[in-house]
Amino acid sequence: MSNSRHTKVLIIGSGPSGYTAGVYASRAMLEPILIQGIEPGGQLTTTTEVENWPGDTEVQGPDLMIRMEAHARAMGCEIVGDIVTSLDLSKRPFTALTDSGTTYTADAVILCTGARAKWLGLPSEEKFKGFGVSACATCDGFFYRGQEIVVVGGGNTAVEEALFLTNFASKVTLVHRRDELRAEKILINRLEKNPKIETLWFNEIHEVYGTDAPLGVEGVKVKHTKTGEITDIPAKGVFIAIGHAPASELVKDQLELHSGGYVSVEAGSTRTAIPGVFAAGDLTDHTYRQAVTSAGMGCMAALDAEKFIAEQE
Ligand code: NAP
Repeated sequence: MSNSRHTKVLIIGSGPSGYTAGVYASRAMLEPILIQGIEPGGQLTTTTEVENWPGDTEVQGPDLMIRMEAHARAMGCEIVGDIVTSLDLSKRPFTALTDSGTTYTADAVILCTGARAKWLGLPSEEKFKGFGVSACATCDGFFYRGQEIVVVGGGNTAVEEALFLTNFASKVTLVHRRDELRAEKILINRLEKNPKIETLWFNEIHEVYGTDAPLGVEGVKVKHTKTGEITDIPAKGVFIAIGHAPASELVKDQLELHSGGYVSVEAGSTRTAIPGVFAAGDLTDHTYRQAVTSAGMGCMAALDAEKFIAEQE
């Protein structure tokens, strides 16, 4: 059965920006409703140790998100386990339809839908997705105990995943298209010291291959970016860690986007081109993409929304 609810502030998304917006909007007595989306807690729920969240020398990503959710709830934010399937920003109040059938109208909307893992786009990658090809080491690493694994990418995610996977794998080959990693120095140091990890520079995945019955990966063929030479690497698991793309589908035809899909906001604020619509976190941030900067933007968005609502009233 469908029903309709109105709120002053609707927060869409449940990563650090969403929950922080929930804390601040609740404390501003705006009685916000937060719709969690398809992956409650967001990207941090698929990581392990987080060592750069201020106040915690080390915290598990999923634990941090449970704490953030509890914090937002304790401040009075209503948190709903639902998915926004469409959003109409053409007139106020804004309207969000959800998977459960509930329609929300809102005076202000804070978009915190974040980003999700990118894929290489190879047909063979698609074929073996979920059957040896994964984008989440914490979710799937356990299946590869004692096996050889390939990780693709050169950023923080790739290095963290390679390190984490050595807990299970007999060997991890990190395949990177250049000869320099963009990961933080502390992670590169750990990578270099880990005897289970071998790094293969100037190579890209050419093809993932395996068996059809049962469907499963047996290895990858990599191609040298300079010489074109093809090398075969046997592996039972292939982890793609080549960055993230913003989850801007809900608003892509309604708001200005930049850098391949990030929602544009006014410099120094979270205001989009539509008054009353604010964007925070990885959905808008092409540069920093950290949990702490995302949380900071969630705070800014709630303060911007509070000001907007006060002006309307
Ligand atoms: P990223 O920093 O954008 O790195 C993506 C990597 O994948 C790059 O090395 C890139 O190569 C490579 N790549 C991209 N497209 C490719 C393709 N089609 N084929 C082969 N390789 C490709 O992404 P990320 O590592 O996911 O990190 C995203 C953000 O989250 C960053 O700001 C990062 O600092 C942050 N993060 C932080 C932590 C932490 O603080 N502990 C953990 C995870 C992520 P090039 O280098 O050649 O461009």
